[in-house]
Amino acid sequence: MHFHQNGYVSADPRIEEAAGYGIDRSQDLPDEVDVLIVGSGPAGMIAAAQLSQYPEVNARMIEKRGSRLVIGQADGIQARSVETFQAFGFAEEIMREGYHITEMSFWNPDPENPEHIIRTGRPKDDEHGISEFPHLIVNQARVLDYFAQFAVQSPGRITPDYGIEFVDLAVDSGAADSPATDHPVSVTVRYTAGERAGEERIIRAGYVVGCDGARSKVRSSIGRTMTGDQANHAWGVMDVLANSDFPDIRTKCAISSKHGNILHIPREGGHLFRMYVDLGEVPEDDARQVRQTSIDEIIRRANAIIAPYSLDVKNVAWHSVYEVGHRLTDAFDDTDETDPGSSCPRVFITGDACHTHSAKAGQGMNVSMQDGFNIAWKLGQVVSGRSSTELLRTYSAERQVTAKNLIDFDKEWSTLMATPQEELPDKAYLEDFYVKTAEFPAGFMTEYTESMITTSSKHQDLADGFPIGRRFKSARVQRSCDANFIHLGHEARADGRWRMYVFADRAAPTSGEGDAGTARSKVEALASWLESDPASPLVAYRREGEDLDALIELSVVYQQEHKEFSFPDVPTVFRPHVGAFGLEYVEKIYAALPDEDIFAARGISRDGAVVVVRPDQYVSGIFPLEAHAEIGEFFAGVFAPVK
Ligand SMILES: Cc1cc2nc3c(=O)[nH]c(=O)nc-3n(C[C@H](O)[C@H](O)[C@H](O)COP(=O)(O)OP(=O)(O)OC[C@H]3O[C@@H](n4cnc5c(N)ncnc54)[C@H](O)[C@@H]3O)c2cc1C
Repeated sequence: MHFHQNGYVSADPRIEEAAGYGIDRSQDLPDEVDVLIVGSGPAGMIAAAQLSQYPEVNARMIEKRGSRLVIGQADGIQARSVETFQAFGFAEEIMREGYHITEMSFWNPDPENPEHIIRTGRPKDDEHGISEFPHLIVNQARVLDYFAQFAVQSPGRITPDYGIEFVDLAVDSGAADSPATDHPVSVTVRYTAGERAGEERIIRAGYVVGCDGARSKVRSSIGRTMTGDQANHAWGVMDVLANSDFPDIRTKCAISSKHGNILHIPREGGHLFRMYVDLGEVPEDDARQVRQTSIDEIIRRANAIIAPYSLDVKNVAWHSVYEVGHRLTDAFDDTDETDPGSSCPRVFITGDACHTHSAKAGQGMNVSMQDGFNIAWKLGQVVSGRSSTELLRTYSAERQVTAKNLIDFDKEWSTLMATPQEELPDKAYLEDFYVKTAEFPAGFMTEYTESMITTSSKHQDLADGFPIGRRFKSARVQRSCDANFIHLGHEARADGRWRMYVFADRAAPTSGEGDAGTARSKVEALASWLESDPASPLVAYRREGEDLDALIELSVVYQQEHKEFSFPDVPTVFRPHVGAFGLEYVEKIYAALPDEDIFAARGISRDGAVVVVRPDQYVSGIFPLEAHAEIGEFFAGVFAPVK
C-alpha cells in the first residue's frame, strides 16, 4: 500500500483524502449530476466504487430500496471477481470471510438401487491452476458492503442515495454532439422512503448507467428489449441451517437423482448452505403458480432427491423461487443502430438489465460486476476530459459479445445439469465438461477485440503469455528495493490509472550515463523517451501539477536477480518523484525470480517488451521496447490532448 507521500498518515491508510465532489458532498441528490447510476446491486456498486476514484466527476447512485441489501440473491464469486476485488483492496478480507471451493462432487442414482444416490465423481474445482485466486462463496450483500466501503473511503466519497427510484428519462435531441460535460439527459425520479416519499423530481444528468436489474426501467426508457428464451426455468433456492448425514454437506455438489436435481452450495461461516432445487420448466399458463412453491415443499423435494440421506432443517435464513430465462438485449446503450456513426451514447445498461441467465453457472453477479467496471472507468476518463466520447462506444461492443458467449455457455451447462445421467454420452460427461470448461465460468475467457483501446496481435509473440484483449494474468517477481516477493498484477489498484509493464532486455541496469549520454540498452532508450519526449504519454497527457505517474503507472522488470542491481542503477522514469514533497517512489522496480521466472512463465522475449494494461485489468497492447512512435500513436488514440 502506498501512503505518507503527502505527509504522515496516522489513521486507516485505506481512507484516502477527500477531493473534488467528495469534499462537502451534498446530502440530497443535486439537480445536476455528471453520471447518474441507477441501482446499487453488484453492477451499480462497482461502478460507484470506480467513479469514486474520479472526484472531479459528480457521480451519484440512486436506489429504490430504503437501505442496504440484507440477504439473498447471488453468492457464487468466480476467481476473476476475486482478482477484481484485489484491485479494490478487499480480496484478502473477503477470502477470509468466504467459503473456498476446492472440490466439486457429482452424485447420481445408485445403479444397485436407483431410489438412492451415490457419489460418482470428485474433481478439483480448479484442475489446471487457472488462477492464484480461489472460487469463493459469500453472500451478495457482503460484496456490496465491501464496494460501498471502498467508495466512501475514496476521494469521491460516493454513498448510495437510498429511497429514490428511477421513473423515466429523455435525452435532449441535440445531445449527440454536445460536449461530454453537458447534462442533456432529463431524469424523472421518485422518493420511495422518508418524509419526501411519493415526491417526484426532474434532475439533469450527463450520462445515466442503468444497473437496475432484470426488470430495468432504464432499459425500457431507451427502447431496448430482451430477447431469448420464452420459457422460464424455476429453481427453489433456500439458504438453511440444518443437520444432515449427507457426507458432502460442506462440499459443492451437483446431485442428479430419480426425484430431480439439486445444486448444493456450502456457504461461509461453517454451517449455512444453499440448495437450488430444480422445479423444472415453467409452463406458459403457469400464472406464477410456481412462485407459490412453499419452503416445506422445497425441503420435501430436497430430502427425496438426496435419499438415503436426509436434512433436518433448523432455520431458513432465506428462500425464494428463482425463475430465469436466458435473455439478452440487442445493445447495451442508447446508440441508434441505424446510424451508429451519429450519436455517442448517453445512456448505458449493465448486468441483469441487459442479460439474464440461470444461477447454475453462478455468473449473475460476476458478469454484472465486469459490466459496471468496464463502463465506469471509461465514463470517469471521458467526463474528466482525459478521453473523447468515442471511448464510450467500446462498452456495448465489448460487453455485449461477452454476455452472448456467457449465455451460450450457461445454456449448455444448465441443460446438461438437468439431463438424467443415463441420457448423457457417458457417466462422467457432466464432470468432464465442468473440468474442461472451468476457465470460462471462472471469468478468464473474456477477450476484447481490436478497437481504439485494444491493439492488433502484431506484437503478441513478444509476450504470448499476456494475450491481448484478455485480463492481465499476474505472476510473481521480486521487488528490488526490499527483496519482497510480489504478485505483479496484485499491485494494480482500481484507481482509474493505466499500467505500463516494461520487461527489460538482457542488459543489467547500471548507474551513471552511457558514453555521451547514449542509451546502453533498449530499456534505457525507452526510459529517456518516456521521461522527456513530447510524444511520450507520460509527458503529452500530464496536467499542470500532476505526478509523472498520475495517468499511467510504470513498472519495470529486469531479467537479473535482485542482488545484481539496486534501484539507483535504474533509469529515473521508473522511480518518479511523487506527492506533496516530491518523494522518490522506488517500489515499482522488480527482478525476475530465478526459479519462477516471469519471462519464461509468460513467454516474454529476452529482447524485452512493453505490456499496456487498461484500468479494468485487460491487456490493451504489447510493443517492442524500441517502438516509441507506435506507443505514442496508441496513446494518442486513447487520450485527448491536454487543454
Ligand atoms: C431474488 C433473486 C435471487 C437471485 N439468486 C441468484 C443466485 O442464487 N445466484 C446467482 O448467480 N444469481 C442470482 N441472482 C442474480 C444475481 O443476483 C444478479 O445476476 C445480480 O445481482 C445482477 O446484478 P445487477 O447489479 O445487474 O442487478 P441487481 O442485483 O438485481 O440490482 C439491481 C438494483 O437496482 C435496484 N432498482 C431496481 N429498479 C430500480 C429503480 N427503478 N430505481 C432505483 N433502483 C432500482 C434494485 O433494488 C437493486 O438493488 C438472483 C437475483 C434475484 C433477483
